[in-house]
Amino acid sequence: MEQAVPSSPLEQVRSRIASAAKIAGRKAADVTLIAISKTKPADAIRDLIAQGQRVFGENRVQESQDKWPAILADHPEVELHLVGQLQSNKAEDAVALFDCIHSLDRTSVVDALAKAQDKLDKRVPCFVQVNIGAEEQKGGCPVAELPALLERARAKGVEVIGLMCVPPAQIEAAPFFALLDKLADDNGLAALSMGMSDDLETAVQLGATHVRVGSALFGSR
Ligand SMILES: *Cc1c(COP(=O)(O)O)cnc(C)c1O
Repeated sequence: MEQAVPSSPLEQVRSRIASAAKIAGRKAADVTLIAISKTKPADAIRDLIAQGQRVFGENRVQESQDKWPAILADHPEVELHLVGQLQSNKAEDAVALFDCIHSLDRTSVVDALAKAQDKLDKRVPCFVQVNIGAEEQKGGCPVAELPALLERARAKGVEVIGLMCVPPAQIEAAPFFALLDKLADDNGLAALSMGMSDDLETAVQLGATHVRVGSALFGSR
């Protein structure tokens, strides 16, 4: 009897994205898979790079500074995104290391990024993180403050390419993804960073251009 070859976690996630894209009449190639490697050792990251993964995300600047320079020296083709909260005092480190920032959420960070970009003469495209469930404890810009924050970013020369959200846990994510899509539309933004290991299909069907997947690729943390 022939035995099915077990597919790798990376193949499984790619195929989940492809199926969801197909259902939605979208191209899988229009969805960027960001492998979230927070807390994972360099070996696990290098292994995924060897399998062909090119875009990675981390949630802490300090951890990334410890882990990534050596990996990027060997793999300059890899793109590194920051998906965790950014403090103004880390803006310069973030601009220096990352290719994209998903957690722009307040004017003080816009200002700090603008200053860091000028100093380092490097522009980093950003997503504005929206506190889509209006959760007290969660990062992200309140929906009502989004237009003002986008205006500030424009005025300061910080490029915003889209919106990002982490919806409330334990409840259906679809309405929150749909709201993020509408907010992006209303504000003329093309990119949507939404969907994680448990809900990436829903996110892709509702227009995600970037999904952020950790545990489904690396195992639980
Ligand atoms: C950890 C993390 C993810 C990945 O979550 P998984 O459930 O492990 O896929 C995505 N986005 C952000 C902002 C994260 O911090």
